[in-house]
Amino acid sequence: MQVKKKLLPANKYSIKCPNSMVPEFIVVHNTANDASAANEISYMISNNNQVSFHYAIDDKEIIQGIPENRNAWHAGDGASGRGNRKGLSIEICYSKSGGNRFIAAEKLAAKFIAQKLKEKGWRIDKVKKHQDFSGKYCPHRTLDMGWQRFLDMVQKELVGGVNMADKNTPSAWAKEAWEWGKKEKLLDGTRPKDTLTREEFAVVLKRLVEKK
Ligand SMILES: [Zn+2]
Repeated sequence: MQVKKKLLPANKYSIKCPNSMVPEFIVVHNTANDASAANEISYMISNNNQVSFHYAIDDKEIIQGIPENRNAWHAGDGASGRGNRKGLSIEICYSKSGGNRFIAAEKLAAKFIAQKLKEKGWRIDKVKKHQDFSGKYCPHRTLDMGWQRFLDMVQKELVGGVNMADKNTPSAWAKEAWEWGKKEKLLDGTRPKDTLTREEFAVVLKRLVEKK
């Protein structure tokens, strides 16, 4: 799944994403607008309002505007609100008029969210709506059409992917090396199918060199 990056310049972090963040869940929004994802992100970046979001998704593409390790102002629950400080925000486009473009945008969003859940090792309960944090009726069209229906769309995308049991068992071809890494204490022995960050890699390298 392709995600385009059109990231906010760092000189605007103080307005749009002042705090570092380790995301804990996803917050779903509808834009209440008829602009494309590219236009939503451009507008968000160009204005100086304290309004921001991590991803905008339309019927054709997923665009990221804010890095996942920064907070964004989207949940309406204040400067220290959980939604604003821990939520990974996703705007689904074309919700004002709805129709086929919105249907397709919602579908792409469900796919993207399912992938995000897999990537983070999260379950469906990590998918929240804006309404959960400020009471605002958002994602309005998704709610009109049925929130549970949307969660079911995400869940359906999850099925056929890697489930949690598989995720915690190393593949046959990697089992021997995995067990060795564990025995030598180079790896902590958890999350065999997760991605490795550069900092985790540095820790493994240091452990390996220091063993000699
Ligand atoms: Zn919203």
